[in-house]
Amino acid sequence: MLPRWHIIFGAIFTAIIWIFSPETKIIYLSLVFLSSVLIDFDHYLITLTNTKKLSLRKSLKYFKCLGEKERKEKKNNKREKGHFYIFHTLEFHIFVLLLSLVRIEFFYIFLGMIFHSLLDVAWMIKKDRIYRREFLLVNWIIRKIK
Ligand SMILES: [Zn+2]
Repeated sequence: MLPRWHIIFGAIFTAIIWIFSPETKIIYLSLVFLSSVLIDFDHYLITLTNTKKLSLRKSLKYFKCLGEKERKEKKNNKREKGHFYIFHTLEFHIFVLLLSLVRIEFFYIFLGMIFHSLLDVAWMIKKDRIYRREFLLVNWIIRKIK
């Protein structure tokens, strides 16, 4: 899903929390919004490691090209996993949730992350791209070891 949609839906989600829980501190609402967008920072890290370029614009172009390549592969019935996104794994979500036992701020970060991930999953199902994503860090490690 494109960053602009995460920004729009993240803002709507944050506004809904604020409407139903107006006593929520602005710092916590900010954490929900920011984490619902910035979890995609791992995409940028992928671009950095693969292209060695810092430009955000080049990163967006990289993923656009990747999408075109993927569509061609799908036409040829080639369905392979895509890049691995560490912040989008179940383990990372659980880690952040566990941190919320120590600091409440992490609970709001977790809320933004889980919202983002649910949007990603819905989008990938709609676009028939769910096979591309590895959701478990442990599966990725096992595949790397083999
Ligand atoms: Zn994402």
